[in-house]
Amino acid sequence: MNGKDNWAALSRASAAELKAVQEANLRRHVRQDVYPFSAHYRRVFDAAGVRAEDIRTVDDLRRLPLTTKADLLEAQSNEETKRDFVLIPTPEKIKANWPLSRKLPLLAGGREAREALRREYTPNFATFTTGRSADPVVFLYTPHDIDILAKCGARMLDVHAIHDHDARIVNTFPFAPHLAFWQAAFAGFETGRFMMSTGGGKVMGTSGNLRLLQRMNTTVILGTPGYIYHLLREGAANDARMPNVKLVILGAEKVTPGLKEKMAEALASMGARDVVISGTYGFTEARMAFSECPAQHSESPGYHTYPDTGVFEVIDPKTLEPVKEGESGELVYTPIAGHGTVVMRYRTGDLAVGGVTWEPCPWCKRTVPRISSELKRSSDQKALELTKIKGTLVDLSAMGTLLSGMREVDEWQVVLKKKNDDPHDLDQFVVRVSLRAGTDAEGFKTACARQIQEGVEVGPNAVEVHSTPEMLEFLGMETEMKEKRFLDLRPK
Ligand SMILES: [Zn+2]
Repeated sequence: MNGKDNWAALSRASAAELKAVQEANLRRHVRQDVYPFSAHYRRVFDAAGVRAEDIRTVDDLRRLPLTTKADLLEAQSNEETKRDFVLIPTPEKIKANWPLSRKLPLLAGGREAREALRREYTPNFATFTTGRSADPVVFLYTPHDIDILAKCGARMLDVHAIHDHDARIVNTFPFAPHLAFWQAAFAGFETGRFMMSTGGGKVMGTSGNLRLLQRMNTTVILGTPGYIYHLLREGAANDARMPNVKLVILGAEKVTPGLKEKMAEALASMGARDVVISGTYGFTEARMAFSECPAQHSESPGYHTYPDTGVFEVIDPKTLEPVKEGESGELVYTPIAGHGTVVMRYRTGDLAVGGVTWEPCPWCKRTVPRISSELKRSSDQKALELTKIKGTLVDLSAMGTLLSGMREVDEWQVVLKKKNDDPHDLDQFVVRVSLRAGTDAEGFKTACARQIQEGVEVGPNAVEVHSTPEMLEFLGMETEMKEKRFLDLRPK
């Protein structure tokens, strides 16, 4: 994906044309990049008895095993293997694997060709995963990959229909080596749209963010669901005015319809009506993110993917076999463009309800494959967000979805500790909430405990009601990089 992007034509090409581009890129990527330059995948191909030439179509990927986060962590934990997922070309490997047309300038020994090679393959940037309980996994980018990141950012703004020249975008993702912030920032640079990156609450404080949002006559707000809700609620409580806001784009965490409704209410009270609240889906291992087009959230047509840069397979998490188009299953991702850290058939752990479809989008008519908007953690993958509470395996992300979706809840936090602070005593599971005005606290406590028991199969020992300022303190909303939704105080 060098030079000008052909997204406008690509995103409306026929399925047959898109599949042809996808498979051509897959073949080139495997033959000229992954097999020759990735120590890990060379071993995987050899062990499976698969030659690079055998991967001709998306179906051929099935001949390779899946890659998991555990594989990445294991490689990274050892000095000798920590770069096994990184593409590292050598003159000998280039000579043996590249077609003549591509290696000729290098063989001729030109300085320009060597410099171009360096920009293509030598990492100069990284983002990390943000797992709650596991070590972060580092993903390296080369200048070539940053170019792809920027172009995908431009594609996202196109899908979100941010085309007006006077778009004024505020990006509240925290300054961090995480995909969300950089994907957003590069989208602004690439498209030339005005984007102010505030770093969120920790850097400028929420009052600073609110002042800026108003002074800029902001039209688009980007950020995490947890922080954006806080920001909008504070704005509404302080009589802020944001009549120009048309679009809120959320990333980095899943969003519930209940939370979107609460955001829309706060925006309406600040003069912004008919605001579209859209989600994005991205993950560190893809080194890019995907957008919903601006349909109302109740009819979201899903995340629009880029068939020229990657392949999404959907598998049955039990049998690991691909399911039919449109059927639910776990998303498995294979990038087919890009250098630096490269995975193949990566198990995302995300279950797409309704899978992936190649039907044109009913809203925007783009023809690229779309991932269903309804994503869940796949419980069969040893998801890192699963934790044992009172001996039962609990999906924290599902619990978060439940709590943030409750209409009565303003802020929430889950605390896990040991009874009497004794490591051998029983687990204590406490839900802390602040409630919206007019909620009956006692009635809510009972209903909340019952819903959690039904939703995640473990009931809390207590549901505590606090004031919103107390909750913001507990969460570290203004002081932490990411608010502390789950506090595990049990000794390790
Ligand atoms: Zn669409």
